Amino acid sequence: MRCDRLWRRARVATLAPGRPGLGLIEQGVVAATDGRIVFVGPESDWPRASRADEEIDLEGRLVTPGLIDCHTHLVYAGDRAEEHERRLAGESYEAIAREGGGILSTVSATRAASEAELVRASLPRLDALLAEGVTTVEIKSGYGLALEHERKQLRAARELAHLRAFTLKSTFLGAHAVPPELAGRAEEYVHQVCTEMIPAIATEGLADAADAFCERIGFSPGETRAVLEAASAHGLAVKLHADQLSNQHGAALAASLRAQSADHLEYIDEAGAAALARADTTAVLLPGAFYFTREKRVPPIDLLRRQGVRVALATDCNPGTSPLASLLAAMNLAAVLFGMSVEECLIGVTRAAAHALALASSAGTLEPGKHCDLAIWNAERPAELVHRIGPNPLHARIWRGH
Ligand SMILES: [Zn+2]
Repeated sequence: MRCDRLWRRARVATLAPGRPGLGLIEQGVVAATDGRIVFVGPESDWPRASRADEEIDLEGRLVTPGLIDCHTHLVYAGDRAEEHERRLAGESYEAIAREGGGILSTVSATRAASEAELVRASLPRLDALLAEGVTTVEIKSGYGLALEHERKQLRAARELAHLRAFTLKSTFLGAHAVPPELAGRAEEYVHQVCTEMIPAIATEGLADAADAFCERIGFSPGETRAVLEAASAHGLAVKLHADQLSNQHGAALAASLRAQSADHLEYIDEAGAAALARADTTAVLLPGAFYFTREKRVPPIDLLRRQGVRVALATDCNPGTSPLASLLAAMNLAAVLFGMSVEECLIGVTRAAAHALALASSAGTLEPGKHCDLAIWNAERPAELVHRIGPNPLHARIWRGH
């Protein structure tokens, strides 16, 4: 066998399904050609006559698949730190929102920003993720709430993917909130999203999927269904912010639409979990939002386990409810606040997250044929990635073999 690059003397957590736990291989090697994995296994199985153009000795370091952040809103302008400060000083969210705070302050800042300004503002957040071994990022729109501004956000996401080496999946989230100029006229806005925005975004190829915020303070299940059915009809995959603050039967709705993922799920019930498992829809848990908004209701992990639902984790990186740009911290929060195991956390940011983005055939595990996306850690055991907050144990990040 011949390969471009060979990483030797590694502890490889392949995350390959069918192997116990994380599929750990001691004294492992990973070989890649043209950005794809051609071999992964114990060094003793590496064919003796093989030649590698470049060999890298990892001296026993842990190697995992490149991490996948499958739910972010990281392209936006403005800042909500001052608003946070006011809330800490005792002002209510309602009072702040009445003065144009909350999500609408991000909407007006994002509308006022040029595409270049959005890119500039978002780059540090993206860089923070990449610095911790992330190789795939999903980015949603949803702070434009008008076609030209939603487009601008999605184009800014695309520009980020030109500036940095990572795999982008972009999601149109026009149904995030009703724009201020249509306050109280949700029906009219939903009509616009379905008949103008989705067709345009889909035709221009600006998004891989569409998403909606199904909640008492967002869109009703009926409005959500209309948006996601329109998205499906235009060839977009669908995802859903579901059952975060109340049980709207969003998980069941997501399953009935064969969504890639249903995200948040603090209030998911037994029927919702069973529906997700049957539809093979991935549950995406977002511990940053849970932590930052001091939610009281923990997503029912035992129920999800019992029903055999695939569970992913993501940062939900956004300016208001989850100003978090660290997937390692998200794993720690999920372990501490949700009681998830080390294995569940790591699967959540690799194999399961790949499913949440329909990338399971090319990413999320280390197996021949997949993209060679690696995170190489100054760590011996996977538990070290979940245990700490702060020290960044990344040694090197490899995207498509480089
Ligand atoms: Zn979100």
